[in-house]
Amino acid sequence: MASVSLKQIVKHYDKTAVLHGIDLDIADGELMVFVGPSGCGKSTLLRMIAGLEQISGGDLHIGGIRANDIAPAQRKLAMVFQSYALYPHMTVYENMAFALKLAGHKAAAIDEAVQRAAATLQITQLLQRKPSELSGGQRQRVAIGRAIVRTPELFLFDEPLSNLDASLRVQMRVEISRLHRELQTTMIYVTHDQVEAMTLGQRIAVFNGGRIEQVGTPHQLYNHPANLFVAGFLGTPKMNFISAEVIASSGEQLNLLLPGGAIIAVASGARSKASCGQRVTLGVRAEHLRLAPAAGHNTVEVRIGHIEYLGDQSIVYASLDGGSELIAIRAPADAAALQAGQRAYLQLPVLQCHIFDASGQALASSAQHA
Ligand code: ADP
Repeated sequence: MASVSLKQIVKHYDKTAVLHGIDLDIADGELMVFVGPSGCGKSTLLRMIAGLEQISGGDLHIGGIRANDIAPAQRKLAMVFQSYALYPHMTVYENMAFALKLAGHKAAAIDEAVQRAAATLQITQLLQRKPSELSGGQRQRVAIGRAIVRTPELFLFDEPLSNLDASLRVQMRVEISRLHRELQTTMIYVTHDQVEAMTLGQRIAVFNGGRIEQVGTPHQLYNHPANLFVAGFLGTPKMNFISAEVIASSGEQLNLLLPGGAIIAVASGARSKASCGQRVTLGVRAEHLRLAPAAGHNTVEVRIGHIEYLGDQSIVYASLDGGSELIAIRAPADAAALQAGQRAYLQLPVLQCHIFDASGQALASSAQHA
């Protein structure tokens, strides 16, 4: 097993900078997810760790050893790609055995490694098939099996589930989690899918434009996003953002003026640096909002827009007078009976609100999340 340490890692292609000084430490045995929108540099960084891309600047250490100039084959890692890249003319068994054969291992040792990996991945019954006789999910298992038999100290996954349909992706996510628990090997997993990141990662690094916006556990990132980007990237529906003005700041509480003239109170947390008159963005998640039949404490009047009925719940979209953005509210399923255009009251939580300054940095989150 191996830790991975990145210090001021930079990548440029000719004059175009793609990664701007990445600092990150991944612990021995950890499952770290790199997540971010397409083009933010996460695959490039993974490929630099693998040795498939030159490092333009900075230091990469794998298992405590500087690895910038170590050849890929000597890095004791295995990579699983989105395209399974299996040899079509070989059976599953031969595909899995290939690297060990090349490395000169004895037939008995190869057989033991292949059988053990096949059992772990539940593909023993497929060992004599050719890749063309397998489903996408089975092929991806074989690709993972081919990585496992080499007993690497570090697994790198580059969007391995993107070619699979939704239900298979869920199943394979569970399998990769189980694999990580069983093998206890360090894994770095790249995805653009925030659900995959939240469900798989022990920690997640959120990338944006060649930089890391925040690193933390799924719980830390969801409940204490450091900025608007992370707040908006993780969670479905997306966190609601409402532009507001601070009109009073007393101790641990802020009073905010919302579009349409309503004034609400939010707990600011001990770290708040908001000052009166400051323009801020109030961030609040759909599950922390309630629709109320009448005005009450911390309510604002809204107009119901459209409603998504999901069976077990409904997502209600409503707008503030004077507010341009629709606000998503996670409501009980029977909220589907509401009518578009109807007036209602939205109750904002005093706790569980996030405040971001004009540059998008979190000023305060009422640190009361369970
Ligand atoms: P992600 O994995 O986050 O989708 P990538 O790491 O693949 O993003 O790409 C990051 C950026 O680097 C993109 O803007 C991409 O166009 C650029 N890029 C990747 N490979 C090359 C290359 N070989 N030459 C020039 N630019 C590249």
